[in-house]
Amino acid sequence: MEKVENEEASWTICPECHGSGKKSRKLSKKIRLLYQIALDQFEKTKDEGTAPVRPKAHLYSCLNCSGSGLLPSAAPPIADTENYPHIAIIGGGIGGIALAVACLHRGIPFTIFERDNNFDARSQGYGLTLQQASKAIEGLGIFSLKEGVTSTRHIVHTTEGKVIGEWGIRKWVQPDTKTTSKRSNIHIARQSLRLALLEQLGGHDMVQWGHQLIDFKECKDEGIDLTFQVNGDIKSFKADMVVGADGIRSSVRKSLIGEDSTPLRYLGCIVILGICPLSALEGLTSSLLDSATVFQTANGNERIYMMPYTSDSVMWQLSFPMPEKEAKELSAQGPDALKEEACRRTQWHDPIPQILAATQAAQISGYPVYDRELLKVELLEKGGQVTLIGDAAHPMSPFKGQGANQALLDALTLARGISKGCRPLSQWRKAGLRENVLNEFESEMLERSAVKVKDSAEAAQFLHSEIVLHESDAPRGRCLKNKDT
Ligand SMILES: Cc1cc2nc3c(=O)[nH]c(=O)nc-3n(C[C@H](O)[C@H](O)[C@H](O)COP(=O)(O)OP(=O)(O)OC[C@H]3O[C@@H](n4cnc5c(N)ncnc54)[C@H](O)[C@@H]3O)c2cc1C
Repeated sequence: MEKVENEEASWTICPECHGSGKKSRKLSKKIRLLYQIALDQFEKTKDEGTAPVRPKAHLYSCLNCSGSGLLPSAAPPIADTENYPHIAIIGGGIGGIALAVACLHRGIPFTIFERDNNFDARSQGYGLTLQQASKAIEGLGIFSLKEGVTSTRHIVHTTEGKVIGEWGIRKWVQPDTKTTSKRSNIHIARQSLRLALLEQLGGHDMVQWGHQLIDFKECKDEGIDLTFQVNGDIKSFKADMVVGADGIRSSVRKSLIGEDSTPLRYLGCIVILGICPLSALEGLTSSLLDSATVFQTANGNERIYMMPYTSDSVMWQLSFPMPEKEAKELSAQGPDALKEEACRRTQWHDPIPQILAATQAAQISGYPVYDRELLKVELLEKGGQVTLIGDAAHPMSPFKGQGANQALLDALTLARGISKGCRPLSQWRKAGLRENVLNEFESEMLERSAVKVKDSAEAAQFLHSEIVLHESDAPRGRCLKNKDT
C-alpha cells in the first residue's frame, strides 16, 4: 500500500472503469472470428456437443484511477434513489461498514443498522492482518492506515527458542535494497480499521446504532419489511435489498436458511488473546519486540502467535485443543482464569512468559473456535432480495487471518455488482435483483472464500500437531500442500 495520506475527503467512482478498477482489453479480431465460427458450427449441429464458451477479454488495472476505481471529489455523489435499490445493511462490523462506504461512493442509497448502542459498546480488542485486502481498502478510499504497522519478518520457534523457520522480506532481500511495503502484511487493531472505514462513511451518525434486527419478510407489492428492536420498542423499515453482515451468529442467515442445515461447527480448540503494551516490559530487550516482527512458538499441542498490535504494543494469541464443554467453561470464567491458564501453559523461551505475565487481565479474552460447513449457492438462491457477506456467509477460524480480508472483498464486490446490475436502463425491477446482481455475486464470493474456510479449518488442526515443528523457511502447513498461508 502506498504511504499516501487520506487527505481527500470524498470519492466518486472513476468514469473510465465504472468503479471496478479494471478495464478489459478488446478481444483480437482473430479470437472473435474463431469464436464466431465455433458458434455458427454449434448452431448448425444444435443438440450435438457443447456450446463454445465466449472468450474473456484480458483485464488490466485502470490507469485513470490507478486501479482503485475511485477519483477524488468535492462531496460524495448524491444517492440515486430513482435508479438504484435501497440497501438495508444489517451489522456495523468490518463487512457492513465497508459495504456502506462502497455504496456511498457509487450513489447507491443505503441504511446501516447495528445492534450495539455505539462504536465502543463492547470490548473488541484484537488485531487483524490485512493481506489481499490491503489492495481492496484502496477501493474503499483508504490509501494509508495511520494506525497500521507493517511486518517484515516472521519467525517460528520451538519452546526452547530454537528458530525452525524464518521468512519475510527482511530474510530474502538484502538490507540495502529498496523494498516496497506492498509485499508486506499490515497489522491493525480491528477497531482502528473499523474507525478508518467509519471516517470514510462520514462519521458515527451514518450508522443506526441500537437497532437489533428481529425479523424481515418480503412485502406483497415490492421490497422487504424489516423489524428492529430499538430501546425496547419495535420499529419497522422498508428496503429493496437486505444484506446480512451480522457476523458468525447472523440473524439474517438464521431467518433465511435456518440453523439446522449448517450449524456452528466446533473446531476442537480454544484461543486466548491478550494485548500488552511494550512499556509494561521494562528492562526486557528482545529483537522479537521491534514492532516489525511476527513470531510463533509451538510444541505440537499449544501454539502462541505474537504480532505488533500498534507501534508500541503486541497482541498474542494462544491456542490449544480442548473439548468444547471445557472450552466454553474456561471462556465463561473470564479474564483472570484465562490469564492463569495461558501463563501455566507457556513457561517457554523469552519474552513469552514475561509478556503474558505483564498483560493486564482486562486486556485478555478467550473463546472456543467455530466455523460452519460451506454454504451452497442453492441455499442462498432461495433468498430473493436477501444476501449475506463476511462471517454471516462464510465464518472461519482465525488461524489464517482471512475473515476480515474476505469480508472487505465481499463488500466491495457486492457494491460493484449493484452498481453494474442496477445501472439506468438495466430494468432490475422487472428482472429482479437476484437475476441482475445476487446470483453472480454469491457464486464469486462462495468460490473465493471456500478455500479460505477450508484452509483455516485445517490450520486449526495442524498448528496443534507435530506438523507445526517441521523445519522450513515457509509458513506452517506449506509442507502439506504447496500453497500460500
Ligand atoms: C482473534 C481474532 C483474530 C482475527 N484475526 C484476523 C486477521 O488477522 N485477519 C482477518 O482477515 N480476520 C481476522 N479475524 C476475523 C475477523 O475479525 C472477522 O472475520 C471479521 O470481523 C468479520 O467481519 P463481519 O463484518 O462479517 O462481522 P463482524 O465484524 O463480526 O460484525 C458483525 C456486526 O453485526 C452486528 N450484529 C449482529 N447481529 C445483529 C442484529 N441482529 N442486528 C444488528 N446488528 C447485528 C454485531 O454487533 C457486529 O457489530 C480474526 C478474528 C478473531 C476473533
